Amino acid sequence: MRAFLGVGSNEGDRWGHLARALRALRAVPGVAWVRPSSVWETAPVGPPQPPYLNAALEAETGLEAPVLLRAMQEIEAAAGRVRRERWGPRTLDLDLLLLGDETVDEPGLRVPHPELARRAFVLRPLAELCPERMVPGAGRSVAALLAACPPQEVRLAGDYPR
Ligand code: AMP
Repeated sequence: MRAFLGVGSNEGDRWGHLARALRALRAVPGVAWVRPSSVWETAPVGPPQPPYLNAALEAETGLEAPVLLRAMQEIEAAAGRVRRERWGPRTLDLDLLLLGDETVDEPGLRVPHPELARRAFVLRPLAELCPERMVPGAGRSVAALLAACPPQEVRLAGDYPR
């Protein structure tokens, strides 16, 4: 099954957090391969906080959604140890955006990610990986959702760090 994940970081060594997230996901048993998008920088909205780096990851996996989410939360927790000392915003945020054609609606797990269609900083990197992919429940492709979502300043920051 093809999985698409959103990655975000706006605290500490942002590029390092992205690099470690990719390495950690590649090491998860049951994940065959992972391909990253470019990295995009997003102006923060809401309360003052540092700008985010955002990216998307495409993975081939046989893992069920809850198992994959648990692995993602362990990767977040490993990065979060830094956050606890600093009281800063998020070191690493991983969201399960899409998993095959699945729709999941359970307490603690919704796929496609419920904010997907509203967030340019998620759709912009995702559209690099799978512009034509139809989003279950939305009846539209990733590229169409990006064209229709509220505008937000999202600029290309560079290649995904290895
Ligand atoms: P956040 O603080 O934004 O990282 O949200 C984490 C919470 O969202 C966790 O309690 C997850 O169980 C829940 N959640 C629901 N659906 C998803 C999803 N598709 N991907 C990641 N977290 C999810």
